[in-house]
Amino acid sequence: MFNIVIFGAPGSGKGTQSDKLIEHYHLFHISTGEVLRDHISRGTELGKTANKFISDGQLIPDELMISILDSVLDEHADAVKEGVIFDGFPRTINQAVSLKEMLKKHNAQVNIVLGLEVAEEELVDRLIKRGAESGRSDDNHETIMKRLEVYNNQTSPLKEFYQNEQVYAAINGSGSIDGIFEDIKKAVDAAK
Ligand code: AMP
Repeated sequence: MFNIVIFGAPGSGKGTQSDKLIEHYHLFHISTGEVLRDHISRGTELGKTANKFISDGQLIPDELMISILDSVLDEHADAVKEGVIFDGFPRTINQAVSLKEMLKKHNAQVNIVLGLEVAEEELVDRLIKRGAESGRSDDNHETIMKRLEVYNNQTSPLKEFYQNEQVYAAINGSGSIDGIFEDIKKAVDAAK
């Protein structure tokens, strides 16, 4: 099992680069944001709960998020055997610790964390542009600023966590999509 975490602030290009990773490495992709938006669009109970947090720019509580991830992994037990691209998870130290435990049960681990590093002004510009096109309830100026604050407070400490685990690869997330993906491929192939 070769597991990749694609990591970075909102607007750093996780979704875009995940699409390229899936195409190139044929690994199973889990975007927790997409899982949640799917529940919201289907109007499930979970979707109703998640929507309150998402539209306010806050994280879904760890316990709930971890159990959602656990069930996605269970549901796709066959597909995940080769490895997974985790996109948008973990977002807190608690989630990272749980992921480590979950993977350990399968004698697996996070093999590489691709940290897409982009300056904050560029993130805001990108998110505002995306907001004009995406129709996402959390791509408005007020929520964008909250999401960046939540990222800085709760998610960015994961960089140090994964540096300590010796799996963090810093990727310059500014520049052309293909140029960034070239750097990603080099980092992944070196970790294989
Ligand atoms: P994303 O599509 O990854 O930008 O996620 C959109 C929103 O979904 C986030 O701003 C959070 O509110 C929620 N979310 C996604 N993944 C997680 C996670 N791992 N932990 C908590 N909340 C999450």
